[in-house]
Amino acid sequence: MADREVVQEKSTCTRCGLTKSLTFEHVPPRGSGENGPTRLYNMLDALTAETVPWDFRGREFQNAQRGTGGYYLCSDCNSRTGRETVPAYLEMIRQTRAQNVIPLELQWARGASWQVSLHEIEPNAIARQVILMIACMNNHTFVRSKNLLTILLDKHYRPKKFEHGLYVFINAGALSVSYPAIVLGGLHGKMSVVTGVFTGTYSFQMELDQRTNPHGYADISNWITDFAHGETASIDLHIPILETNVGLPGAHQSRAEILQNLEQHRRSQTAR
Ligand SMILES: [Zn+2]
Repeated sequence: MADREVVQEKSTCTRCGLTKSLTFEHVPPRGSGENGPTRLYNMLDALTAETVPWDFRGREFQNAQRGTGGYYLCSDCNSRTGRETVPAYLEMIRQTRAQNVIPLELQWARGASWQVSLHEIEPNAIARQVILMIACMNNHTFVRSKNLLTILLDKHYRPKKFEHGLYVFINAGALSVSYPAIVLGGLHGKMSVVTGVFTGTYSFQMELDQRTNPHGYADISNWITDFAHGETASIDLHIPILETNVGLPGAHQSRAEILQNLEQHRRSQTAR
């Protein structure tokens, strides 16, 4: 879904890796109806601020009038993914929004989840579109692993094994953060490399080094291996609703928990 606006300077295309003029790519795709003018805040500012993470007053931001995205893909890759994977992704979003009747009390309930029934969708193309969006959030070195690269480049390539975790959840929190690969420690004593992209409907996380699914996300990793390109299936997804109020991947504390922690911290400071 490209604006046909081309940057003058050549750069490396995230998908094909060639040095070419890049076109503006909307992430998520513009046709999803959830990519309008946006304020972009620096995550580091939010993490180091003295205020609660969702208080943006006085913080600097960048106005993204055309929505979120950037110059990630060359014109050829933009057109090709626009044909091969974007339509299947948009169909999943369309069906989801048609069923989007999450009761308000559920949206903010801890441990809540929502069941969506997707009818005759194309799982392989959708998963490849999600990986592409995540790749765009990273830089062009992200897909240099041969497996990922071939998944993005060749629609008929169906790996026997997909060693990454690809997950879906619904964000009910105050922040919408997309982040390049981040290494997290302390997860059952293991390191975990996580990256992801948030949209108005779904949020997607990818675990790069393992598949631990620490928060019980809906796991769609098998959409890459179990379905051929063009193959359709009707799938029920049980999707957890998790808050994101801190700009770190996998930090799903509720606002109430954060406020409680802050209060406890304040009390322990004054007791000293
Ligand atoms: Zn390209």
